[in-house]
Amino acid sequence: MRPKTQCVRGDARPDKIGTPIAPVIVPGVTFEFEDHASIDRFFEEGSGYLYSRYDNPTVAQAAREIAALEGAGSAALFASGMAAMSTAVLTLAAPGKRVVTQDDVYGGTTELMARVLPEWGFEVETVRRDELATLDPARLAGAGVLVLETPTNPGLRLIDLEAVAGVARAAGVVTIVDSTFASPLVQRPVERGIDLAMHSTTKYLGGHSDLTGGVIAGSAELVSRIAARRRILGGVMDPFGAFLLMRGLRTLAVRIEAQQSSAMAVAEFLAAQPSVESVAYPGLPSHPDHTLAKAQMDGFGGMVSFCVRGGSTAARAVHDRLRVFHRAGSLGSVESLVSIPALMSHRHVPREKLDAAGVSEGLLRLSIGLEDAGDLIADLDRALAG
Ligand code: PLP
Repeated sequence: MRPKTQCVRGDARPDKIGTPIAPVIVPGVTFEFEDHASIDRFFEEGSGYLYSRYDNPTVAQAAREIAALEGAGSAALFASGMAAMSTAVLTLAAPGKRVVTQDDVYGGTTELMARVLPEWGFEVETVRRDELATLDPARLAGAGVLVLETPTNPGLRLIDLEAVAGVARAAGVVTIVDSTFASPLVQRPVERGIDLAMHSTTKYLGGHSDLTGGVIAGSAELVSRIAARRRILGGVMDPFGAFLLMRGLRTLAVRIEAQQSSAMAVAEFLAAQPSVESVAYPGLPSHPDHTLAKAQMDGFGGMVSFCVRGGSTAARAVHDRLRVFHRAGSLGSVESLVSIPALMSHRHVPREKLDAAGVSEGLLRLSIGLEDAGDLIADLDRALAG
């Protein structure tokens, strides 16, 4: 009999697809159960899938791949880096626990801490980055979570992961490190005693400026608590996003290797220019955290920040003269990007906070892509010459 509709039992699944090399995208939002006993098994043993806001096979596969890269027991994927951070903080801060944050975290995280959480009645305390490693654990008493970032955006300063993990452990406080600037190939916070590593997968992990996503990785116990809140808050990654993420992960190692080698060449070039006032790159021996970077990172990453002589006006002129670098926010992609954080990602961060974090109006941030390093240096040379 000819069906009048394609919505026929079983026909939604392709026949005998074999074993494709590339990950399979499962876009389905709901999953059929054999019988009532298999529904009981789903709830009692957590086996199988029910609804894609809860979990989805493609999303779960991408999460397993990131957990393996991070050396973590488990990982959960989100619709953005901010969805990952806010869901984790809301899970760990409640009920009635203080949130403690490093002072110079990414602009969006700063807004979450300084404006959004206090408006919702959370008590948020800020600790200076340089105080963290030697903090008296008593200062963390009663806190639910300590939010950290290393290397920082855009100052590229580091925190000592093992030292801060020790302080937080003594106080019984869960730690989250935003490790976006490094990627799991350069830095694995969980291996150094931090409870949860967080990334905006929009950056290096996706790597092609075409995916918005986030991830939290850590112990199965902590990640499953956060994933349970994700089911209700709803900020889950979609299956196509998870596919793009896995596609990005396939080339992560070669991208990072090329990007950090070019970043070192660019940083060395900038440091030798009389028109450049300062360069921040953890790979330069002059960087204040160079020794720590060598100890806790595998390489120094693909981000470089610098200040030109002449402040904001000179920085804007250099920014506008660049031709190979794209003038755009975000980072970690195959294309090289330039931005002035005070104009873009940190626009809503109060001036006094930016001053404290060393983010001047004239700071230019470079995300080094896969172009030839010589072409990038020639572009900077031309733009600096005026
Ligand atoms: N953390 C850092 C260090 C970032 O640079 C960003 C975005 O720029 C985020 C978190 C937020 O990620 P998303 O834009 O994916 O929400």
